Amino acid sequence: MELKLLKTTEKRYQLLNQMDIYSLEDIVQYYPYRYDIIEETYPSVNDEHIIIEAHVISATKIFFRGKMSRMTFEVEDRYHQQYQVTIFNRHFLRQYLKLNAVITIIGKCQDNRITASDIKIKPIDEIKGIHPIYSIKEGMTQKSFQQYVKKALMMLNGNIESYVPEEMIIKHQLIHKDIALWNIHFPESQNDIKQSLKFLKYEEFLKFQLTMQFIKQRRSCEVGIEKKFEIEKLQSFILSLPFPLTKDQQNVVKEIVDDLRKPQMMYRFLQGDVGSGKTVVSAIALYANYLAGYQGALMAPTEILARQHYQTLISFFKDCNIKIALLTGSLSLKEKDIMYQQIREGEVDIIVGTHALFQKKVQYHQLGFVITDEQHRFGVEQRKAIKNKGNQVDFLIMSATPIPRTLAISMYGDMEVSTIKTMPRGRLPVQTQFIQSSSMKPILKHLKEYLAGGGQCYVICPLVEDSETLDARSASQIAEAMQKYFQNDYRVGLLHGQMKDDEKDEIMKKFQQNDIQILVSTTVVEVGVDVKNANMMVIYNAERFGMSQLHQLRGRIGRGDQQAYCYMMSSSTSKDAIERLKYMEKSQDGFEISMYDLQLRGPGEVLGNRQSGVPTFLIADILKDFPVLQVARDDALYLIDEYRKGLGYQNLIHKIEENLKVNNEYVD
Ligand code: ADP
Ligand code: MG
Repeated sequence: MELKLLKTTEKRYQLLNQMDIYSLEDIVQYYPYRYDIIEETYPSVNDEHIIIEAHVISATKIFFRGKMSRMTFEVEDRYHQQYQVTIFNRHFLRQYLKLNAVITIIGKCQDNRITASDIKIKPIDEIKGIHPIYSIKEGMTQKSFQQYVKKALMMLNGNIESYVPEEMIIKHQLIHKDIALWNIHFPESQNDIKQSLKFLKYEEFLKFQLTMQFIKQRRSCEVGIEKKFEIEKLQSFILSLPFPLTKDQQNVVKEIVDDLRKPQMMYRFLQGDVGSGKTVVSAIALYANYLAGYQGALMAPTEILARQHYQTLISFFKDCNIKIALLTGSLSLKEKDIMYQQIREGEVDIIVGTHALFQKKVQYHQLGFVITDEQHRFGVEQRKAIKNKGNQVDFLIMSATPIPRTLAISMYGDMEVSTIKTMPRGRLPVQTQFIQSSSMKPILKHLKEYLAGGGQCYVICPLVEDSETLDARSASQIAEAMQKYFQNDYRVGLLHGQMKDDEKDEIMKKFQQNDIQILVSTTVVEVGVDVKNANMMVIYNAERFGMSQLHQLRGRIGRGDQQAYCYMMSSSTSKDAIERLKYMEKSQDGFEISMYDLQLRGPGEVLGNRQSGVPTFLIADILKDFPVLQVARDDALYLIDEYRKGLGYQNLIHKIEENLKVNNEYVD
């Protein structure tokens, strides 16, 4: 229903819009982020937190310092206990604090002195209870927002769609949606809140899981292409690789190849820790697709990574007669035109590239398979765009931020999930040390020895240009200092996001060829680059990076059989930052680290936002409410199944389908 029904001011409508509220339905789904619970406390002399009713027994005294004020007065409570009360910056309350006025004081008490955080000029009975607190914009008050909510709830009365069938209400002993909504905003007890949350979280997850399962089912009904090829040829290709596959790699290869041969479209999510060897898996999959006679595309988030994948594929395919092309934004128009033609006419078999892959002008020739690397960097729109470039294209999405399988299955509910857990043999854990410093001094000796031994080193900084507000050492400044220090001995290169693509490539190439020994860089090296001789990394201002990101960065080194060293430097005194960095010293397990990170920062930060296919929820929390998510998933599977058997739930599933039409959040 329209927001206008609230009959409030234009200014308030604007504020509501700023809070992403455009309808009455939006208002009632704008949940409180916490509750203030006002209950009388009986203070002893030293009490951290008190709420008491009392009456004023003295005049008020006010002291000003500039605009700040301190007001003191005396009160007596109902038990004849007297207190001195102090409150800051509320001198405007003075007019109400007359002798014998009955007030409620909220604050801290010590030795009969109360420092009040709030004073209400009302007896406690009038304000007792649970008060919802909303996150609102300046210009809005809690009270008026509550009134909007109340009004909206009354106007919507009974007309709020629920996604929870009666059967599930009974099964899980849930309250109904109208009551849940009322009680989440105007609870009378803690139990009201609990019951409301139970319903709303479940509903949110159920709707999500129904959508996922619906997409998945619908996809499986569409006829895909059965890719036929001689499995022996694939096997001999695998044998020609420079190393044997790990057990996990073998398993995921099997899962992917089986998918390719099925008449349904593949939609698979492949996750594995950084360095676990996903690239070779993608090469094998692309080869199978090629053997079946189809074009394939591998999409990488950065130019550097695309180029590297391209080179890796060339080396894996050196004895095969496959034509591989690299399509990136930095090609000249003429080069692009030639390449477009080759792609269109099927003269190339595999195209590796960046976002350039899904531009309008690119027309594929029997595109049968698309792989995207580093999933969280691609939006849903981009994935849709490239998927639509072929007919019933098989799709594989790779991610280097692995999460436990159970969680992955629930979060990426419309996809099949493959996981590589084990690392290739002989991999030594990267020796990681947290250095509480903002200068290189403590590690200079080791760095010099290491470089003298012929190794190469990454130096990672969070920022490019110096900024006074941010106390971070900038990449260019550090590069300069290092070049000065190592003058004739070693060459230092600088890499950052504001450089042109060909400049970046040039620097990367030099680093790969050991023309540069020290590469000072912002996080553009974060994803995927592979320089086996670089086994030391120094990270400046490490506290500025998320843990998964630090782990990704660290994954750039130690990719061969040599011992690698990572120094995480930070002079931060924040307890949390120190704890995080200490954790990085101990853990090498990407699964563990991403779980820790998820708890700290939430899925949006770690895995990407909804545009990249990671769901976001209003009220439920994927981690804290994980058991509910699993229950919702089972229920969704059951409900869809019943629907497909013609045993009911038509309305529910149609609602899901309608929703999907207006909703652009999913690739379907
Ligand atoms: P990621 O999963 O991070 O993309 P890569 O595919 O880049 O990892 O692999 C990391 C490194 O491990 C590469 O140098 C690759 O050649 C090597 N590698 C991959 N699989 C194996 C294996 N089975 N045995 C030995 N080395 C491997
Ligand atoms: Mg990779």
